[in-house]
Parts: sequence; structure tokens; C-alpha cells
Amino acid sequence: MTKLNFPAEALTVFRHMQTIDEQCTCLERDWEGAYWKHKRCAACEEWSHQHSRLHDLLRLRPDQWPAIEHPDTESVPGNAAYPQPDREARGRYRLLEKAAGERESIR
Ligand SMILES: [Zn+2]
Repeated sequence: MTKLNFPAEALTVFRHMQTIDEQCTCLERDWEGAYWKHKRCAACEEWSHQHSRLHDLLRLRPDQWPAIEHPDTESVPGNAAYPQPDREARGRYRLLEKAAGERESIR
């Protein structure tokens, strides 16, 4: 089994998550202010739900969380409140992107 051999359903969920991502209507989170008061929009709630599903479909371990992280996610080194780049999750994002693209090109 190659690394790109993801279950078809995982690729579908991944693409769905990318669409949801674009529908986010959240206000910019204020990481230096009361970021914990941040309320997620409906798109983010749905994204979170799909993320759990993707995590299951990929049969990841509980410590492999998040399952994916967008490679362009900003981070502020040294700011504990800000998410640190998760290289493994970013790698998975790229692999899923590649696999989803390959699947679409052979259709
Ligand atoms: Zn949102």
C-alpha cells in the first residue's frame, strides 16, 4: 500500500472540507486578546465534524491530531496561544491533495 492509497471516502471528505473552509464566516481570531471567547461559525462546526470523520477514515492514532492542517496556516513562533505548525498534519494535507487530484484526473 502506497502512501497515496487513501480510501476513496477519505478523499471525498477531504475535498468537502476544502469547500467548507472557503465558506468560513468567522471574524479574524484575536490571538493576543480573548481568543478563547471565539465562537466558531457554522462552516467551522461542520469542518470540525468532517475532520473527526477524516481522522477515522485515515485510521489515525489519537495523538495524530489534527489529521490535516492547511500548509499555509499562519503561526506565530513563541506565542503559546497560536497553533504551532504541525508538520505531519501538513504533510498529510499535501498527500491528500495530491491523491485527490490524481483521482480527479483519471475520471
Ligand atoms: Zn468559521
